[in-house]
Amino acid sequence: MGEAGFQEGSKGPVIVEASTPPICSSCGRIVPPGEKAVKFYCPNCGAVLIWRCRKCRELVIPYKCPNCGFEGP
Ligand SMILES: [Zn+2]
Ligand SMILES: [Zn+2]
Repeated sequence: MGEAGFQEGSKGPVIVEASTPPICSSCGRIVPPGEKAVKFYCPNCGAVLIWRCRKCRELVIPYKCPNCGFEGP
């Protein structure tokens, strides 16, 4: 017997985000794990991964890209 099934999907480098909780780009607070936040790359420069927490989504708080200064909903 071994540890079959323990390691799964070990192909290529994997970015681990567990130790670095994401920060909402709109309000600046840490997005807690499990929250229905959204993340997407800046639609203008595409270089920055932007997070928006659930609250900012509901309130439609604008975000600002720290790289290019793009603002949008
Ligand atoms: Zn937020
Ligand atoms: Zn940008």
